[in-house]
Amino acid sequence: MLLKTIFPRFNLRGSILNIDDRRHEVKYMCNKCGKLRVMFSLCDLKTEDLASKGYIEITDIHNCVESKLTPITLYVDASYSVRSQFPIEVEKTKTTEPLPGLDIPLPIKVKMGNREIEKIKGFRGKNIRSIKISDKLRQTNFILDISNKGNELSSTSKMSLVTVSMRINKKVSEENAKKWLEIIASTIETRVMLDETVLSHLLVYLEGKIGEKPEEYEKIEVEFLLSNSHLISNESLLTNFEENKSKIFPDWTKVEHSYAAKIIQNCSASKHKTLWEVYETVKDKQTLTEFLSLIRELRKQEVIKVEKMEFFTLSDPQTK
Ligand SMILES: [Zn+2]
Repeated sequence: MLLKTIFPRFNLRGSILNIDDRRHEVKYMCNKCGKLRVMFSLCDLKTEDLASKGYIEITDIHNCVESKLTPITLYVDASYSVRSQFPIEVEKTKTTEPLPGLDIPLPIKVKMGNREIEKIKGFRGKNIRSIKISDKLRQTNFILDISNKGNELSSTSKMSLVTVSMRINKKVSEENAKKWLEIIASTIETRVMLDETVLSHLLVYLEGKIGEKPEEYEKIEVEFLLSNSHLISNESLLTNFEENKSKIFPDWTKVEHSYAAKIIQNCSASKHKTLWEVYETVKDKQTLTEFLSLIRELRKQEVIKVEKMEFFTLSDPQTK
């Protein structure tokens, strides 16, 4: 393929980027199935929670005993050690009320705290009037309530751990909006971490799209948005881009080429910035949707790598 000869595909994982020493490793052995699971994060986990409580909570979902998908809450300290782990019992969080007269054990009530999603510039609340994300993994309801007018919709994720409810403008197609809610609920359910600042940006992104049927590429963009992703590139990829941009991205305008160059510069391995930090550098000139579309294209051509926070299985005693 011509493209490949002009612009060879680079193996971004490890080889050309000597950044592994900067990654934080979170490793634990599951108490139930014995799998050794690991996450390499470029993300600094020094959050408010760590300062106030001395630990942060993150979530790993894996095929556990009897190949059952099991979410596990991990308590991680400042040195990235897992201090304790608690499996979340999916079945028990499903039932809310015991059936009278039957000998059914009382379900565990998950105590939910509330956190407000900040309304940021770019979100007008015209199509989306309110949103509530009930996230049992984080034991938190993320809420933004602008108006009590409109149609109410909700969708629950596969494991029933995340429910997204929304009130939308009556003019917006409920059928399409519902599809978006399904995507958001299922994406949040598989996230290691979630914070409300990301949700503020998600609302900006959704406002103009909620009435349209979601496309496949938009599912990828939602994944980028909610994954606390890091963007990685380097000098040689930038040089290659500068030399071959009109061949690799012939449909782009000059302005798009220059934004893309700025994005790649900001993704250099030494900076290891998150998607949001890179967006900050171009947001005055680009909408979030335009930015994500550039990121998607740059990733497709392997000019940048989008690395999300996720766990991998290092070893599996069941298969030995
Ligand atoms: Zn397990």
